Amino acid sequence: MFEAKAKVLYIEDNADNMMLVKRVLLVEDYEVIEARNGREGLAKAASELPDIIITDINLPDIDGYEITSSLKGNPITANIPVIAMTANVMKKDRQNVLDAGCDGYISKPIDIDELPIQIEKFLAKRKK
Ligand code: MN
Repeated sequence: MFEAKAKVLYIEDNADNMMLVKRVLLVEDYEVIEARNGREGLAKAASELPDIIITDINLPDIDGYEITSSLKGNPITANIPVIAMTANVMKKDRQNVLDAGCDGYISKPIDIDELPIQIEKFLAKRKK
């Protein structure tokens, strides 16, 4: 029986990024739950209880900062690591991501070789 390494919730409105990340993670034996906007992301975080959440920052309804605050403010989801995926590479933007309560960030454009390594690193940190 197939057993996923971990369950990843990916909140992303861009179809190309969604397809790319999904493909990379499925090859690495992760289970991927998709959410196309913030509301769907928050609902799936609570119902699916993923091991890790990757969120885009710019979404059509709620932005990634607000999503992170909601997740961290809800006892059900507070302990799930949240990784922001952001094209904002300015130092100030990285700080905003961390200030919002994100456990880390992954820079866009997505590096398909680095992505699984980064996710494993965040998951390992959580288990300690
Ligand atoms: Mn977006």
